[in-house]
Amino acid sequence: MTGLSGLRAVVTGGASGIGLATARALAGQGAAVAVLDLEPGGVSEPLLGLQADVSDDASVRAAVEQAAERLGGLDILVNNAGIGAVGTIEDNPDEQWHRVLDVNVLGMVRTTRAALPHLRRSAHAAVVNTCSIAATAGLPQRALYCASKGAVLSLTLAMAADHVREGIRVNCVNPGTADTPWVSRLLDAADDPEAERAALNARQPLGRLVTADEVAAAIVYLASPAAASVTGTALAVDGGMQGLRMRPV
Ligand code: NAD
Repeated sequence: MTGLSGLRAVVTGGASGIGLATARALAGQGAAVAVLDLEPGGVSEPLLGLQADVSDDASVRAAVEQAAERLGGLDILVNNAGIGAVGTIEDNPDEQWHRVLDVNVLGMVRTTRAALPHLRRSAHAAVVNTCSIAATAGLPQRALYCASKGAVLSLTLAMAADHVREGIRVNCVNPGTADTPWVSRLLDAADDPEAERAALNARQPLGRLVTADEVAAAIVYLASPAAASVTGTALAVDGGMQGLRMRPV
């Protein structure tokens, strides 16, 4: 259904977790894939690993140009790089707000801006942003992260409107808590990581976390020609966390 043979993709934050699973899934469907990451060292063939910091415009532009040159163009952009923040608005100083918004929101703006000239030349152009259920849920102790993902959701809709007549589709996925190195790092910081993980699983409607591969499958679908009439939408991959009105993490 989602054959991507002949298509060329860039995945930001593609050296770990959801991004890496997505890069591998895109390649598995036949796409040529470049990963843009702060630390692309662990990325191996057939993926092309390129160093880039989405909070640095010059770095992003250079990496996107290099990816387009090496892949022979660009059809798919997955804006996935993101960082977290814990706390209420009183806990996070301005510098932290600037940093997280710079990576999570402006990072997508910079990368998409750099990719647009290439996407305009594609017959199957698609942008998929990794958003979160945090975009529309009042998660405790996550004010800054929620605000950043709320902005990603709005940005997705606005970009979809701006570029629909150019044939560029823009969608996002809203993962629930996904089992990635990010979440493992948070659990490892707890007094009893195993008990914390068991409690986290128990709070999920499915009784387990979402997997990175499951989020990647949704991203691949939205990026593929099979989703040619899908733009300006958010696809939740959250094990029912939002729709079932379960208590958020
Ligand atoms: P992760 O930490 O495993 O991977 C993130 C990757 O992004 C890393 O390879 C990191 O080096 C890269 N990165 C970070 N800052 C960067 C920058 N400035 N420039 C370039 N690369 C950068 O995280 P993950 O869990 O796979 O999360 C990926 C995305 O999914 C994020 O946008 C996150 O907000 C979103 N998300 C994650 C979850 C979850 O529970 N894991 C849930 C909802 C949404």
